[in-house]
Amino acid sequence: MNVFRNMRPSYAFIQLLAFAVVLTGAASRATGQGGTAQTVIQKATEEFENSPLKVVSLGQGLYVFSGDGGNVTAIVDDGSTLLIDSGLASRISELDEAIFKTTMRPVTRLVNTHWHFDHTGGNTYLGSSGVVIFAQENVKRQLASVQDVSFVGLRDGHYPPQALPERTYSSSLRLSQGTERLTLENYGSAHTDGDTVIFIAPANIAVVGDIFSNHVYPIIDLVSGGSIDGMIRSLDRILSQTDAQTKIVPGHGPVATRADLQGYRDMLVQVRQSVKDLIAAGKTMEEVVTAVPTKDFDAKWGSGYVTAKVFTEMVFSSLAGTSGSQ
Ligand SMILES: [Zn+2]
Repeated sequence: MNVFRNMRPSYAFIQLLAFAVVLTGAASRATGQGGTAQTVIQKATEEFENSPLKVVSLGQGLYVFSGDGGNVTAIVDDGSTLLIDSGLASRISELDEAIFKTTMRPVTRLVNTHWHFDHTGGNTYLGSSGVVIFAQENVKRQLASVQDVSFVGLRDGHYPPQALPERTYSSSLRLSQGTERLTLENYGSAHTDGDTVIFIAPANIAVVGDIFSNHVYPIIDLVSGGSIDGMIRSLDRILSQTDAQTKIVPGHGPVATRADLQGYRDMLVQVRQSVKDLIAAGKTMEEVVTAVPTKDFDAKWGSGYVTAKVFTEMVFSSLAGTSGSQ
């Protein structure tokens, strides 16, 4: 089982690479494009494998662990800890230890915000110790099924049964943890087609997964059913259900405010409009990239592992319907 677990992140990175190849393939001239894709992977790998694990308290028995992949939120009650996301497989022992040190209670339940490896990497470890896993129903299919990436000659293996969500839902599910009520919502296609946003009350926290990466251009996973339109629709739903005091936990990056989320949503809307206008003017993906429709935002959002170029290609492909978008 250890071998299987250790293979998971590298496999997922290959998938991410494959995804980037799909995105760039349409306009690829074989030069340059592969290098860009690899840079995304290398940067993400370096970041997730080597960042120090940090914990931030949100008060009222809520904590956010970060550095080992996607953000991991812990909610404590008298006798147990409920987790949202499980980080990178290669760092789950370290995460598990840090969670126990902080909460002094065993993890009994886990919610996955979506299927990506940097949010589900600890599933096998936690599922093996009896933790009950919750997710939107598409996540179970995505984790359980063979992911066929034949254009690079690769087929994904199954996650083992103990890593799969045994409690799934379609559009909404309510849970409680101590005095906190959790509302799990799926708004259809967004970052993937299986995203869960978790509203926590009365703490007034929204855990939004990779629909929001704080100060990094997001990945829009078109192959898994994501779309730029869906990202924006979901953000509008989140904005309508939060207020100025709500703490927003993004999939990556520091805990944010509703104003930060609004700024991010507005950035997506403006980039989408610029790319739409260029498509309407008959521009190819390469020409759209050259026009740099993200130029007003690159200083703030463009320094992460998703470059302005890759982000532009994802928005273009989503709008042009060239990479399996809805
Ligand atoms: Zn993701």
